[in-house]
Amino acid sequence: MSRAEVQLPVADAAAKIAERRADFPALHQEVNGCPLAYLDNAASAQQPLAVIDTIANYQRRDHANVHRGVHTLSQRATEAYEGSRDKLRDFIGAQSRSEIVLTSGTTESINLVAQSFVRPRAGAGDKILITYLEHHANIVPWQIVCEQTGAELTVAPIDDRGQVDLERLYAMMTEDVRMLAVGHVSNALGTINPVEDITAVARDRDIPVLIDGAQATPHMQVDVSDLGCDFYAFSGHKMFGPTGTGVLYGREALLEAMPPYQGGGDMILEVRFDKTTYNELPYKFEAGTPNIAGVVGLGAAVDYLGEVGMENIGAYEQELLAYMTRRLSEIDGIRLYGTAERKASVQSFLLDDIHPHDLGTIVDHKGVAVRSGHHCAMPVMQHFCIPGTLRASLAFYNNHADVDRLVEALLAAKALFA
Ligand code: PMP
Repeated sequence: MSRAEVQLPVADAAAKIAERRADFPALHQEVNGCPLAYLDNAASAQQPLAVIDTIANYQRRDHANVHRGVHTLSQRATEAYEGSRDKLRDFIGAQSRSEIVLTSGTTESINLVAQSFVRPRAGAGDKILITYLEHHANIVPWQIVCEQTGAELTVAPIDDRGQVDLERLYAMMTEDVRMLAVGHVSNALGTINPVEDITAVARDRDIPVLIDGAQATPHMQVDVSDLGCDFYAFSGHKMFGPTGTGVLYGREALLEAMPPYQGGGDMILEVRFDKTTYNELPYKFEAGTPNIAGVVGLGAAVDYLGEVGMENIGAYEQELLAYMTRRLSEIDGIRLYGTAERKASVQSFLLDDIHPHDLGTIVDHKGVAVRSGHHCAMPVMQHFCIPGTLRASLAFYNNHADVDRLVEALLAAKALFA
């Protein structure tokens, strides 16, 4: 029921979500003698029992290679694997299952588009447009294509709240732009970009749009048909599924016209030495034996998110983010990075002049897991002239107590350095 979920009143929804914490075994452990407060969800989220058990059951009973065997186990594996594709199609509102290419993650999805879609269409004098907010996975593949084709990478600036300067971005959408690649949600700062508006302007100017949705799908309902983008990339492990799984959504007509990204088994209809014919969509882009168990687990994650309800998750996380922002702001000497008007549940910060790695290590001793460093978004750090930050990123299974533990650990660190 992912798209037709029932909306509960806010208080009931919050209470129901609080119960979901029990579904995640990894959250119920001690780390360094303290109960774990897991606040590194933007890097990778924990998995619920529903996902863990689905994978274990698949491995115990159903595992075989997909698409190839007439025997029962192969049919079961194929059904489970292809069933996940249907769930993912529904999850993001794509028109057709042909538009759901299963990849190893956002990184592979973006590289696929860079090599298969942009590389044959770009040359000297052309531009690829991104923003300062991007994760390295939405920068480096375009730099590689620029090296290969002679195209130029252009970068729209951000302001000091971590918001893309839309006026500049729109001014940079000129007719020589062959691709606009933009993040839906910034992993380093939490900024939610107005991708609906950005896509509408780009489409008006016939500029293809790829959206990096790695940090959006865990937090909000995404509908690619409403967004109107050409490509949408996301990862399973950020949305409570396994690592090594992900999706590239692509508009069918574009995928149809693109050459394969990799050659091998499964992506062909017929192989002859004089000519090979490629498989139909989406298999043309899925060479070799895929991460079957992972994809089956990702399907279970999609089911699970449907039960919790993306709208409920969004509302709960917004409240928790407001609480975390308030509690962090109260700490003397804290500097918050990423204060955009529309944000997902991520907060980057620095405290006094304590190095983020030292801070991260000290809070880990108190059982608090946060990320320290540049978060694979070095240009964002360059914008703020800092080497990195500490980043606390929330999922719907976090609660006020997790935030309180973070604040206590930070105050203890502050006292150590005083
Ligand atoms: N884009 C964004 C915004 C991300 O946060 C990440 C993961 N940190 C990626 C892309 C890359 O995702 P993956 O490593 O799962 O391919």
